[in-house]
Amino acid sequence: MTSPAKQSRVTPRRAGPALVFGDRWEYDPAPETADPKLQERYDLFIDGRFVAPRSGKYFDSINPATGRKLAQIALAGRSEVDAAYRAANRAFGTWGKLPGRDRAKYLFRIARLLQDRAREFAVAETMDGGKPIRESRDFDLPMAAAHFFDHAGWADKLEYVVPGGRARPLGVVGQVIPWNFPLLMLAWKIAPALAAGNCVVLKPAETTSITCLKLAEILQDAGLPKGVVNFVTGGGEVGAAVMAHPLAAKVAFTGSTEVGKAIMRQLAGTGKRMTLELGGKAANIVFDDAPIDQAVEGIVNGIFFNQGHVCCAGSRLLVQESVADQVITRLKFRLRHLRVGDPLDKNTDVGAINSREQLAKIRSLVAAGVREGADLYQAPCRLPTQGYFFRPTLFTGVTASHRIAREEIFGPVLSVLTFRTVEEAIEKANNTPYGLSAGVWTDKGSRILKMSNALKAGVVWANTYNKFDPASPFGGYKESGFGREGGRQGLLDYLQTD
Ligand code: NAD
Repeated sequence: MTSPAKQSRVTPRRAGPALVFGDRWEYDPAPETADPKLQERYDLFIDGRFVAPRSGKYFDSINPATGRKLAQIALAGRSEVDAAYRAANRAFGTWGKLPGRDRAKYLFRIARLLQDRAREFAVAETMDGGKPIRESRDFDLPMAAAHFFDHAGWADKLEYVVPGGRARPLGVVGQVIPWNFPLLMLAWKIAPALAAGNCVVLKPAETTSITCLKLAEILQDAGLPKGVVNFVTGGGEVGAAVMAHPLAAKVAFTGSTEVGKAIMRQLAGTGKRMTLELGGKAANIVFDDAPIDQAVEGIVNGIFFNQGHVCCAGSRLLVQESVADQVITRLKFRLRHLRVGDPLDKNTDVGAINSREQLAKIRSLVAAGVREGADLYQAPCRLPTQGYFFRPTLFTGVTASHRIAREEIFGPVLSVLTFRTVEEAIEKANNTPYGLSAGVWTDKGSRILKMSNALKAGVVWANTYNKFDPASPFGGYKESGFGREGGRQGLLDYLQTD
């Protein structure tokens, strides 16, 4: 992540954002300066137009790096969720019959327009969510565009999704997404839905609605027929109304396991199709024959990417006992060199925690780890004095019964456990209610195959971590949910097939 060649000594005169490197090193600030073109107030996007909420109620979207208000977001009521569904249902009458090649043109245009405005969107995403600009610029934006491009390619080839069969759209789909990858989760949801010929009502997370509403501008510029995509904003109540609406032929939810279970209970017996992408507590497993330096980089990427706000984060490190000391020593060295601070600075590795509530949750689980007897190590960096930040954290001496080994922390906190044999690694890795992802680091191909068969996880990365591609399906087992997003499998969840 940090090449020493990029490090520069600067005079300590500047009192800017916390870019402290040990006690002696600082970096010149390298702020991204593109204009995010934010509005003071964002309305609902229904039937191709921005409309003010009838209640006149708005809520604040906060910049977590400063704690200050960025914009006001409309609070949708039930009648507006209903209006969004009715608009989507009307639009489905024509959109659902449009030849695939025509739907493809719209998806392609959306992808291109997103690329055109990528810098502006990256800054908006970073300011609204707290993630480092390096990540929103190099990961979230290109991946979101890639999802639209990839599905533009699928739209006129749906017969290949079900070779020899027939594939038809479902109708209107209701979608709710979380705050960790706001624009990317939105792309994962609406690109396959539109490629398959469905219309959409989507609710973004309440702390990160801005790039969703900016995307609505792109949908208008792309000439997407009105009502094909509708955005309603607000909190859990609005989400529940989106999931429960009688016009929804299918619902797709990404978020916590707790809310996923509530949605299942709410929709039981309605006959709606449903896909749920929920939480995770992934094992990242390092064997003694692994390339250790490469594995350490993979562990760091696995847990500190996006401040650990990643459903598939490698939050449980399982390391073979004979190399545990070596791995932990190198990890501590890497933690000391992570740059935590201003998310808009291009040098920042770890940005702001998404919200005050999430910071409180991380603090309370870390306190539980200390209380239960695990050994805490935190990077000795200086945190900014404003906003919501947390030190990259490592726990050793963790056992399977500790809360930090069982519960999803969704923050920059790694729990280290050890193992001696392959069987013990498999048993410990699978000893979780979740089953979203896992990582395996080893020199042996046969061991990779054995582990990927034995691990109960939707994705198993080998000698890498957090790699994504629109063509590669993603999803979970057990309490991590069901259904897949991406690739042919992801499209199947948006189609009736016969
Ligand atoms: P959350 O479940 O609290 O909220 C997710 C979304 O659901 C938000 O938009 C929220 O407003 C909405 N919501 C809240 N209550 C609802 C209800 N009763 N009915 C319908 N919608 C409701 O989760 P979060 O804190 O925003 O996100 C973090 C969680 O998301 C983590 O558990 C993470 O693992 C998970 N996640 C999973 C994936 C995946 O692909 N599996 C991807 C990203 C995040």
